[in-house]
Amino acid sequence: MSDTPEAADPPMNSAVDKLTKFLRLEEERGYDNRAVLGGLQKMLEPWRKEAEEQGVPEDLIRVVVSRLRDYPQLSPRSRAEALRGIWARLRDTYPQLDASAGRPAPAPVKGLPAPTEPVPTPASKPAEPASAAAPPSRQPTVKKAAIPLDAPLTTLSGVGPKTANTLAKLGLKTLGDLLWHLPRRYDDYSQLKPINRLWYGEEVTVIGTVESIQLRPVRGGKMKLVEAVIGDGTGSLKVTWFNQPWIANRLKPGKAVVLAGKIDQYLGHLTMNNPEWEPLEGQQLHTNRIVPIYPLTAGVSGKWLRRIIHSVVTRYAPAVPDPLPEQVRSEAGLLPLDQALRQVHFPDSWEILRRAQHRLAFDEMLLLQLGVLRQKRDWQQLQTDPLAVADEMIERFIAALPFELTQAQKRALEAIRRDLASPHPMNRLLQGDVGSGKTVVAAAAAAIAVANGRQAAFLAPTSILAEQHYRSLSELLPQAAGLDADAIQLLLGSTPEREKEAIRQGLAEGRVQIVVGTHALLEEPVRFARLGLAVIDEQHRFGVNQRAALRAKGENPNLLVMTATPIPRSLALTIYGDLDLSVIDEMPPGRKPVETRVLSPIERNRAYQFIAGQIEKGRQAFIIYPLVEESDSVEAKAAVAEFERLQGDVFPQYSLGLLHGRMKGEEKEAVMRRFRAGEIQILVSTSVVEVGVDVPNATVMLIEGANRFGLAQLHQFRGRVGRSEHASYCLLIPDTEDETENERLKAMEATQDGFELAELDLQQRGPGEFFGTRQSGFADLRMARLTDIRLIEKARNAAQAIFSIDPDLAQEEHRLLAQALERFWAGGRGELS
Ligand code: ADP
Ligand code: MG
Repeated sequence: MSDTPEAADPPMNSAVDKLTKFLRLEEERGYDNRAVLGGLQKMLEPWRKEAEEQGVPEDLIRVVVSRLRDYPQLSPRSRAEALRGIWARLRDTYPQLDASAGRPAPAPVKGLPAPTEPVPTPASKPAEPASAAAPPSRQPTVKKAAIPLDAPLTTLSGVGPKTANTLAKLGLKTLGDLLWHLPRRYDDYSQLKPINRLWYGEEVTVIGTVESIQLRPVRGGKMKLVEAVIGDGTGSLKVTWFNQPWIANRLKPGKAVVLAGKIDQYLGHLTMNNPEWEPLEGQQLHTNRIVPIYPLTAGVSGKWLRRIIHSVVTRYAPAVPDPLPEQVRSEAGLLPLDQALRQVHFPDSWEILRRAQHRLAFDEMLLLQLGVLRQKRDWQQLQTDPLAVADEMIERFIAALPFELTQAQKRALEAIRRDLASPHPMNRLLQGDVGSGKTVVAAAAAAIAVANGRQAAFLAPTSILAEQHYRSLSELLPQAAGLDADAIQLLLGSTPEREKEAIRQGLAEGRVQIVVGTHALLEEPVRFARLGLAVIDEQHRFGVNQRAALRAKGENPNLLVMTATPIPRSLALTIYGDLDLSVIDEMPPGRKPVETRVLSPIERNRAYQFIAGQIEKGRQAFIIYPLVEESDSVEAKAAVAEFERLQGDVFPQYSLGLLHGRMKGEEKEAVMRRFRAGEIQILVSTSVVEVGVDVPNATVMLIEGANRFGLAQLHQFRGRVGRSEHASYCLLIPDTEDETENERLKAMEATQDGFELAELDLQQRGPGEFFGTRQSGFADLRMARLTDIRLIEKARNAAQAIFSIDPDLAQEEHRLLAQALERFWAGGRGELS
C-alpha cells in the first residue's frame, strides 16, 4: 500500500491552494496581518465563494471563516493560535498537504515557545507491527497494519499499574477500550472571540495574556480564590477560580492562556468563573474546540483522561483497519472508521460529529444484525421431533378456561401450535403488554408438549414471579388439560433440599411433567426425562448462557420466550430478529383504564393526601424514584433518604417499605412479599421494582421525576396497578418545569396502549433510551442510543445483503468484518434475545 490519499479525500483545488499560501505568508511575517493587502479578513468573502464552488467541505469552510473573522482584533499570539487551528483542520481534510509540502511546524511567535505535544506517548513500542506505532500522528493516511488494540494501557507512558487499575473501573483495559470510550456529551467552546465582543451568557473561548493574578483566602481562610485579569489587546476580563489555588502558581503574569467557559457578569463587568484553561503553547484539548466530556471515575480527572484519549486517538485511530467493505461504506454514505473515531472524540464541528456517531452506530447495528441472522440460520438447521395435537384437544383446552381467549391470544396460540408441529425447534418471542394474558398461551403450549409425552419447564427471574406462574398453571392445567396436580412442581433456590431431591427424581423419571422455577432449574443435578418445551418469562433478565443452559437440558427443545415490554416491530425485528414474533396486542375485555394525571411538583402534597385517602380505604401504593445518577450507590442513598423523609414526615402513621438496586435478591423478595401480604402499605422503590409482580390491592402508582423515564417504562410501572375491581390511579410528577419535556408525559394521560406509547417513545428518544438503562443488553450498545430507526433499517438492509451473498463471512473482503463480529458477540453484547 502506498501513501496515496484515500479515495475519500477531496481533491486539492485553487481555493485550498490560496488559503495555504496566505497562511504560510502570514506565519513568515510573524502574524502582522499584512499577508493580504487590507488584512487577511479581506479575502474571506471571495474565498468562501470560491471554496464553495470548488466543493471544499462545508465544515472546513466554516472553521476557516469563523477563525479568521476576528483576526485583526487578535493579538499575535491569538492569531498564531487561530492559524494553527486552521492548519490542523486542513490537514485532516487534505492529508496530501503533508505529503507534498513537508511543511514545517508554524514559525514560532516571538517570545512564544514552539508548539509542543504535551501528550503521553507510548513508552515502549507495542509488540505488534512497529509501523503502526512509530510515526507521529500527523498522517491520517498511515496504512492499515493491524494495530495492538488489545495492548494493555500500561503501554502508554504516564499510565502505571495504579492508574491502569483506576481506569479498569471504567472498563478501560486496552488501547481499543480507550478508542471506543466515547464522550458522554460535549461542550462547545469552538467559538473564539476577542474580549471586546463577548456577550453575557455565551459559551466561548478567549485567548489572552495574564495581566495580573492573585490568591485570596475567603470565608475565614476556608476557601481559596484565584483572581486573574486576562487581556487580549481588545479588552480585559476578570476570571475567578474557586478552590484551585495551584492555578496561581501555574499562571504567571505575561503568560499566554486559553480560557473556555460561560461568560458571567458581576457588578456590571463581564467575568468568567471556573473556566477550563490551558496554556496557549501546545495543543488545545480543553478549550477552543468542541470539547468531549467523558464519563469519569474517582481518581481520574477529566482533563487527564481527555489528554490520554487524545494521544491514543491521534496515534492509533489512523491505523485501525476499517472492517466495512468499501462498497457498503460508500453505499450507506458513511465516514471511514478512522475519521469517525477521531471526530467522535475531538470533533471539528457538530455536523461531522453527527456523522461520526452515525458511522459508529451503524457498525453496532450491522454487527448485531449479522449475529442475529447467523443465529437464526443455525437454529433453523436443527432437527427435533414434531409435537402435534388434534384440534379437539385445543378446543377442549379452550372450553375449559374460565374466560374466552382474545383474538390476539388465539393467533399467538395458533402460531405456537404450528411451530411445535414442525420438525425444527420453535424459537418464538411472545410479546404482550402487562395483563394481556401471556400465561394462558404458554400454558396451552405446555399442555401440547405434555400431550405428546414431553415435559415443559418455566423459567422466571425471581421467586415471586415463579410462584405466581406456579399458582396460575396449577389453577389452569388440571382443569383444561386433565393434568394431575402433582405433575406440576415448583423449584426455587429456597426449596428445602429434600423436596428438591424429590422434584429432581420426578423430573428425571418423567413423573413431574411441568416444572416452574428460578435459576435453581439450571443447576447441574436437574435432569429431564424428555424436555420438550422451555418457557422463559421476562426473557431480558436472562443471559444467553442461561438460556443455553436450559436448552441443553433437552434435545433441541422448543423455546418460547415472553416479554411484557411492548417493542415496536421495527426494533423487535432487529434485536430479536433471530426469533419469530407473536404479539398479543389486545387486552382481555373489561379492563378498567388506570386514571393517569401529570402533576406539577407544587401539587406533590395533594398527591400524598390522595395516597393517604386510598390507604384509609384499605388499598396500597407504590412511590417510584428515578435513577438519580448512573451509579447504584448514589441511587441507593437518594432512595434511602427519600424513604426516611416519607416515613418520618409524610406518612408516619403508615407502614412503608423500601426497594433499591443495592439490596440483595433475598432482601428485595422479602420486602415484596410483605408488600403483597399487606404488611407494607406504601412501597418506596427505585426503578428496580419487579416487572410482572401482581399485587392487586395496590391502586396508586406515584412516579417522581417522571420526565426521566421513557413512556414505555412509565407504562410498565403503571401496569403494576389496575389489576383488581378497584379503580386505580397513576400520578406522574416531573422534576422540571420544562413545558416541552412535560408535554411528552401527557401521552400517558391520553392512552393506555403500550404499543402506541412505545412507538412514541422510540420517535422521541431513540432505541437506547427506549429500553431504559437496565432493561436489556441493548443498553450496552455504545452508539445506538443516539441513533434513529432509519439507521437501524439501513444497517439491517446492509446486513441482509452481506448475509445473502456470504453468510459465513468467508470471503476475503469480509475477513475484518468476521473478526469484528466475533469480538462484538464475545463482548457479552450478544445477550439480546
Ligand atoms: P401477562 O401477559 O402480564 O403475563 P397474565 O397472563 O398474568 O398477563 O394475565 C393477567 C390476568 O388476566 C390473569 O389473571 C389471567 O387469568 C387473565 N386473563 C388472561 N386472558 C384472559 C382473557 N382472554 N379474558 C379474561 N381474562 C384473562
Ligand atoms: Mg406475566
